[in-house]
Amino acid sequence: MSNCVFCKIIKGEIPCSKIYEDDRFLCFLDIMPINKGHTLIVPKEHHETVLDMPADLLKNMFVLAKKISKAVMDGTDADGFNIGINSYEAAGQVVMHMHLHIIPRFKDDGLKSWANKQYSEGEEAEMAEKIKSKL
Ligand code: AMP
Repeated sequence: MSNCVFCKIIKGEIPCSKIYEDDRFLCFLDIMPINKGHTLIVPKEHHETVLDMPADLLKNMFVLAKKISKAVMDGTDADGFNIGINSYEAAGQVVMHMHLHIIPRFKDDGLKSWANKQYSEGEEAEMAEKIKSKL
């Protein structure tokens, strides 16, 4: 994709702080980190969202995520980490080239979890059925 920022990074047209590279993935620091050390895992093949990824590539990506997460945790002295994938604009995806965020977390980093909602009577069972019917 000629206008994709991550494709340009992969091709070496835009610089990045590279953490890891193999034939299928490039990992580099997020330019606007949620916490310092925030790392992106990007497949070299252009796929817009996780739903467009071939299963084999997805499996490899999560195996790699384990390796990179450990290095991010150890390299930043983090107390934990989040792995995140934003899918589609409504969920905050800005770069439409599928990628995985690894965000180091610290006990007092002040980042808050998402707010929770509550189901009304019977709504939880109805929701479960709606989702199951699409499998
Ligand atoms: P998302 O909202 O999941 O699409 O996340 C895209 C991420 O890419 C954001 O966290 C950006 O800070 C990051 N990003 C965008 N451009 C660059 C770049 N040139 N180098 C490194 N990270 C970038």
